[in-house]
Amino acid sequence: MTRTAVLLALLALLASCALPCSASAAGVIELSADTREIALSAHVTYRHDSAATDTLADAWRTLDAGGFEPLPGGNPAFGFQDGAFWVHARVVNRNPGEPRWLMVQTYPLSDRLDVYLRYPDGRVEHQAGGDTLPFGERAIRYRHPNFLLDLPAGQPVDILFRVQSQSSMQVPLVLYTPGAFTELSRDAQLAIGLYYGILLALFFYNLVLWLVLRDASYFWYLFHISAFGLVLFCLNGLGFEYLWPNNIWLADKSVPLSISLALIGMHQFARVFLGLGDRWPAGNRVSMIAIAAFAGFGIAAVFVPYRLITPAVSLAVLASIVWITVVSVVALRKGYRPARLFLLSWSMFLAGTAVFTLVAFGVIPKTFYTEYGVQIGSALEMLFLSVALSYRYASLRNENERIVSQANVQLEHTVAKRTRELRSTLDQLEQAHSRLRESSRRDGLTGLYNRSHFHDAFERLLVACNRDRQPLSLLMVDLDFFKTINDEHGHLVGDDVLRAAAQRIGKALRPYEALLARFGGEEFVIVLPGTDLRAAVAVAEEVRRAISSTPCKSQQGPSVRTSGSVGVHTVVPGTIDDIDDALQVADQALYAAKANGRDCVRTSISAA
Ligand code: GH3
Ligand code: MG
Ligand code: MG
Repeated sequence: MTRTAVLLALLALLASCALPCSASAAGVIELSADTREIALSAHVTYRHDSAATDTLADAWRTLDAGGFEPLPGGNPAFGFQDGAFWVHARVVNRNPGEPRWLMVQTYPLSDRLDVYLRYPDGRVEHQAGGDTLPFGERAIRYRHPNFLLDLPAGQPVDILFRVQSQSSMQVPLVLYTPGAFTELSRDAQLAIGLYYGILLALFFYNLVLWLVLRDASYFWYLFHISAFGLVLFCLNGLGFEYLWPNNIWLADKSVPLSISLALIGMHQFARVFLGLGDRWPAGNRVSMIAIAAFAGFGIAAVFVPYRLITPAVSLAVLASIVWITVVSVVALRKGYRPARLFLLSWSMFLAGTAVFTLVAFGVIPKTFYTEYGVQIGSALEMLFLSVALSYRYASLRNENERIVSQANVQLEHTVAKRTRELRSTLDQLEQAHSRLRESSRRDGLTGLYNRSHFHDAFERLLVACNRDRQPLSLLMVDLDFFKTINDEHGHLVGDDVLRAAAQRIGKALRPYEALLARFGGEEFVIVLPGTDLRAAVAVAEEVRRAISSTPCKSQQGPSVRTSGSVGVHTVVPGTIDDIDDALQVADQALYAAKANGRDCVRTSISAA
């Protein structure tokens, strides 16, 4: 038997039950008063009619001539085989209380089954079964093919059983008394109900999560468990019983179709859950190819005969089991923590399958738990996967929160840095601006305020003096014979003299709160707020003396003596609002000083 056949056969045997073997004489099965159920495998003989050409008469002849042999190792599974299998059992019912027995083939997928009963009087009775006949034609509405046999007490009856099928060739026949069968089917039904109950609960739980979270991995999980549930449903014979009892075509195609769907779901779920696209692009490509392959199998299943497609699909399932283990180990080794739970879930499923395989080979005893290994394993797998999904969601959320808070810290740093830079730029700009403003108020040659700034400042001082009822004095200073200095020593020397005069005036005014500006050419103007005429004249004298105190040094030529004339005008509060008027009066006083021989101080009063 090939490995693929083992797998499929094992999956398919899911719903058979623990069967005690009762001892019987070789060749003849004695149904005693204690026998309630008996597995026939150990007692039957078989013949492989590889061309499927033998008639019933041929089969009886071969049987009578001793052409049948015992099942190899008592194993009723032959894998995928051509032709037909004939199985024979000779039964004597020693229990007069049970004249009718139920014979069940605990494998649901065989295409065509024929049972012939030969009684001592030569009479032969025939019954047919298998999934090529509508479900309703079964003796009992049960997921496994079954036949009600009349076994009169004390009479040896030959049971000749013919199987022809494109699915795996399996003939696990069991005889039950009706009472024993009722008990068995009740237990099995409970187990199956439990299994699909778990599956349904997980389905709806994760469906809600998917609807709320819209995370693709939940969708693929739903897809995976639905399709896997469908696989077991088909393998158990429940699909034929409940979903499509009259659709023989679908009963035939459902196994490879549902396996293809389940594996598409499994690969896709693994891919999305493990984030293979980012973590392992090469592995991701292999998984995509696997998905494409199963999509291909699914389509092929519709057109290609069962016996060709199913072994191929089974082989691909084996490869997929290995592959999904590989990708989850790789994801784990790349530090993806949710892969651990994924691997654990996956190993549950594998362990369940392994236990089931070991039971089939007789390595471990057949108990309820080992018998239903695949179902227990897959239920645990799906349960763990559901937990893994929540874990993955939580770790994604934590990761997101970490990234967001990291980004926030980074952002705060950047904002603080940018703010500092901006502030320093603004400071620089402000400094440049104030330098510019200052330089726009200053005269380039002397460094004193220029006329335009003077104009504004004087206006403010005039307003303040008027408001405070304080006098304000205005001094106009003009250097004497400056044109002559220029003419005699040149403009550069003239400039030096101008600068020196400006400095001397500034120095003389230092003790006072005075506004000093270059009014134009060699003319300066001084405002002394809160200063009356007498005090202003005194300041004017100091200024005049400062100008002429010593010759002005020049780097461009000889030291030059200079002098200045000063006109003083004191504005009485409330008398003058217009600064030009005040300047004009002061200018008249200056003119008087010039007229009076220069290098002297004159007031507007004396000028008038
Ligand atoms: P007065 O005593 O009557 O004031 O005679 P003055 O020569 O000083 O009078 P005037 O107004 O005729 O001449 C002023 C001269 O000052 C004319 C101009 O060439 C000169 N001057 C004006 N501004 C500057 C300057 O920035 N640098 C130099 N070197 N000379 C200047
Ligand atoms: Mg002048
Ligand atoms: Mg002058």
